[in-house]
Amino acid sequence: MLVDAHVHCFVWEEFPAGERWAFANNWAWYRGSLANLSGGRGGIFVPPLDQKGPWRDAAKVFPRTGKANSDPDGKFLMSYLDAMGIEKCVCLMVDWGLAWGEEAEFPVGEVNKRGGELKKKFEGRFYFQAGVDPRRRNAAELAETAIRDYGASGIKILAANGIAPDDPLCFPVYDVCRSYNKTVTVHTGSGDVAGFSYPAHVWHLEQPAKMFPSVQFVAAHGGGGLDGEWHDILQMTLTIPNIAVDLSEWQYPIPPNDWDPGREQEFIHVLNILRKNLGPHNIMAGTDFMGGESPEYNRWWWDLWRDLPARAKKFGYLFLQEEADLMGGDNARRIYETG
Ligand SMILES: [Zn+2]
Repeated sequence: MLVDAHVHCFVWEEFPAGERWAFANNWAWYRGSLANLSGGRGGIFVPPLDQKGPWRDAAKVFPRTGKANSDPDGKFLMSYLDAMGIEKCVCLMVDWGLAWGEEAEFPVGEVNKRGGELKKKFEGRFYFQAGVDPRRRNAAELAETAIRDYGASGIKILAANGIAPDDPLCFPVYDVCRSYNKTVTVHTGSGDVAGFSYPAHVWHLEQPAKMFPSVQFVAAHGGGGLDGEWHDILQMTLTIPNIAVDLSEWQYPIPPNDWDPGREQEFIHVLNILRKNLGPHNIMAGTDFMGGESPEYNRWWWDLWRDLPARAKKFGYLFLQEEADLMGGDNARRIYETG
């Protein structure tokens, strides 16, 4: 049975204003025009010759930014799991506050507590990593409370918020995870909304994974997709066995669409390289699902994982069903203790 190793379930009040301004600004500049128009189904933006950007007023969209992603009672998340035939999910809670120098209305302690509440509410289906920004004075305490009292499977560091995982400030948090035998998940690859891509580079996992050799680390987003840093992960994990990856957010450029034939063969080719180097026991399927998403990409993605051996065979690759089972769910069960 499938497990989505990377989903989100936000309340709107946990997004600080800076985070929402960053979203609004991307909208105002038509960032990623193909994805930004017509609900992601394509379109091209032609800027007027006589006007420099931004071409739309960020203030206009700001008040409703993030509203569609809000899923206060987990309703969207659960109907997504049902619609895709996914048994369980791992929700990555996020500590946004320090990235923007301003706290959200809904503080991080509450964010993690809510993770525990959702875990109880959706027993057997919902598991979570606590969000902790290691720059907080009480970061280790936040991590320990979430693990011990709320049932977190470990902690998640959103490196794109401006804190690289090899910053010594992170080490007390890793210490907590080591003593509870819990997993450390770190966002890698792109800078996320308007965050920082440098601290999110996969190289920053090298030192902590070596210093904490008994801790399972996860490079969330596997270095940022087909066009990301997966080559660097190969180099790094050649001598570091305790880094797994989730391939969330990889789905978007892969299905065929109106603009190109898609990249399924290329993806299978890369997945083959990853499983040969990292081993299939270190790769997890995931999406980065959050409320408000249209289901097409995710449906296509899960169909691919469900039929992996047959889909890979089309291109001449042998993937065993046991490998597909590991990547499609059993690795997440082990790494995040979802059973
Ligand atoms: Zn995510």
